[in-house]
Amino acid sequence: MHASRSRVCVYCGSRSGAQPIYEEAARALGCGLANHGIGLVYGGGATGIMGALADATLAAGGEVIGVIPRALLARELAHKRLSELIVVDDMAQRKAQMATRAQALIGLPGGLGTLEELSEALSWAQLNLHHKPIYLLNTNGYFDALISFLQQAVTADFLQPEHQALLRVFTEVDSLLTTIYEGDII
Ligand code: AMP
Repeated sequence: MHASRSRVCVYCGSRSGAQPIYEEAARALGCGLANHGIGLVYGGGATGIMGALADATLAAGGEVIGVIPRALLARELAHKRLSELIVVDDMAQRKAQMATRAQALIGLPGGLGTLEELSEALSWAQLNLHHKPIYLLNTNGYFDALISFLQQAVTADFLQPEHQALLRVFTEVDSLLTTIYEGDII
């Protein structure tokens, strides 16, 4: 396996979710990335959607870089078989390293950690602190309420429509992959 020229950063759950479709979508994404020589940067965990995504990418011969804070490493939460594991001092450094190493940022189903990472990616894009595309995979309608909330924020005039549009929503893995392959990140 060679170091990838292009990489995407994925934010996703440390838990698997209640239905197999969440892990299945993550595995399909990992496989598609690997098949196109696109590397994965993620939180470095071995469990849940994170573990499924990393395992599928590695199994298909892809490059997987994990970025994990020392405290989580000490609790043995890190994936043991990654192409590279970058250990950082804290969560802020982790997010910075994850985003810096990728040309696009992707949210998959997850909990508060995922929401926080995705939210920062969006708010920093809104401030022009980065210009990386931000994609959301809305598997099984998991993020419907978040999407509605953002629409409500526009209606209430707390969010500008052009900033709402920073989040590009996909229902299917294939259409997300096609956008990544055809996008200007490659
Ligand atoms: P959550 O969505 O709350 O499960 O949190 C997942 C996100 O937070 C991931 O994108 C990771 O960057 C980070 N994270 C939370 N828990 C862990 C863990 N056990 N191992 C590695 N990263 C984690």
